[in-house]
Amino acid sequence: MRVVLMGPPGAGKGTQAVVVSERLGVPHVSTGDIFRANVAGGTPLGLEAKRYMDAGDYVPDSVTNAMVRDRLGQPDAAVGFLLDGYPRTVAQVDELAAMLAEHGAALDHVVELTVDRDELVARLVKRATEQGRSDDSEDVIRRRQEVFAEQTAPLTALYEAQGLLVRVDGMGPVAEVTARVLAALGA
Ligand code: AMP
Repeated sequence: MRVVLMGPPGAGKGTQAVVVSERLGVPHVSTGDIFRANVAGGTPLGLEAKRYMDAGDYVPDSVTNAMVRDRLGQPDAAVGFLLDGYPRTVAQVDELAAMLAEHGAALDHVVELTVDRDELVARLVKRATEQGRSDDSEDVIRRRQEVFAEQTAPLTALYEAQGLLVRVDGMGPVAEVTARVLAALGA
């Protein structure tokens, strides 16, 4: 099963992706996690990505697409994957489709987690205190929301037009949201 999990910053993508990917038996591929691991490891990719991440901006498509191509080419992703945080731009949507088409594959579902605006901010503030992510300060949170609205929110319309989009209510207890996501995937 090849699935993309979408939703605004704070929608709970990461939390859901961990559990849902396990249930589906596919790897959880989070571009944010891969970037953070590279930042922590001080790799050249991490050094480049950090500048953008700390400002709340997107890492350039060329860098991100190359990283995802490499990750999805690894053997564990042959059975499928749950992508979390990718694609985020129209160019990434096109590149992902092209990558999959090279292997005669395509996406099965795109799940959009929907959450109220007030709840999103509350979750991000909570995460900032709990995890200490350097991009969870108030002005960077605001910037990430702007970038999301400009560059990523429009992608759902593209996937809706392709008949791939399913919207899932992301409000409420984690386990209830997981059950809704799995039901939406028919799993
Ligand atoms: P996330 O953990 O998904 O919220 O990602 C954290 C940060 O990593 C984002 O704010 C971006 O700076 C960067 N990032 C993650 N995924 C992407 C992507 N698909 N395209 C560009 N930048 C990304």
